[in-house]
Amino acid sequence: MSNHNWEIYPLVLGEADVSKVLDTFWSLSRDKSMVTVPILAWLLVPTFNEEPILVDTGFRDAERCQTVHGLGPHRTKPEWSLRTQLKNHGFTAEEIKKVILTHLHYDHAGGCAEFPNAKFIVQRTELQAAAAPMVSSQLKIGGGALFYDRKDIAELIDPLWPQVHLIEGDTEIAPGVKCVLFQNTHTPGSQAVYVQTEFGTAVILGDIARNVELNINQEIPPGLIYDLEATYRAMIRIKNEADIVLPSHDYEVVKKYRNGLKEGTSVHEN
Ligand SMILES: [Zn+2]
Repeated sequence: MSNHNWEIYPLVLGEADVSKVLDTFWSLSRDKSMVTVPILAWLLVPTFNEEPILVDTGFRDAERCQTVHGLGPHRTKPEWSLRTQLKNHGFTAEEIKKVILTHLHYDHAGGCAEFPNAKFIVQRTELQAAAAPMVSSQLKIGGGALFYDRKDIAELIDPLWPQVHLIEGDTEIAPGVKCVLFQNTHTPGSQAVYVQTEFGTAVILGDIARNVELNINQEIPPGLIYDLEATYRAMIRIKNEADIVLPSHDYEVVKKYRNGLKEGTSVHEN
């Protein structure tokens, strides 16, 4: 196998109190309690001569999550800012040339304006769906746009449009890094990022699955989905293809890989 291994680091950009029903397909869940989840981005650092890649950019501001999207408290602090998190790994925002967006929800596409030199790699179907989401005007949560923040989408369409790189379907982004489209799962154009590491294939999921134990190991689809069958198939496919599964909102994953997936990491402790 060619040595196109990458190191992967979780960047904690915030924290949110959300309903547990988001973790499990709604009609199967009787647990209405709240849970505190991290809001993550991922930094991919090559072990060979290649540029680093950022996956997702977090949320715009904590206040909007409550006032616009009608969700529970979201928290942030200076050490969780994108710039500080990147700095911890020796990078500036200006040095990031490639940003993969798993999908365009408010907690994944809110920080794009911080990257003046980046291409934003996103599925065309996702941007199309985000611009005109199908949603009931009566729904009190989701900002009238089913968790797409109009400000983020407007920004991508203009002024960041020259930086937007639309892809359609499965696409190699760099040696050892591939975007894989999982249509109509968490969103119409959600994509996972398959990354070659020394531990095998790590799959960064966005929110295609939220909780490794429930959604992947037990194959129970998460709460917010477009097509139940497509989501169910995605859970099984990811379980088969991934050696390591990295969703965006699971503190167990942060705990396990706090110091990154790199040489010397123990990935099989449980
Ligand atoms: Zn999310």
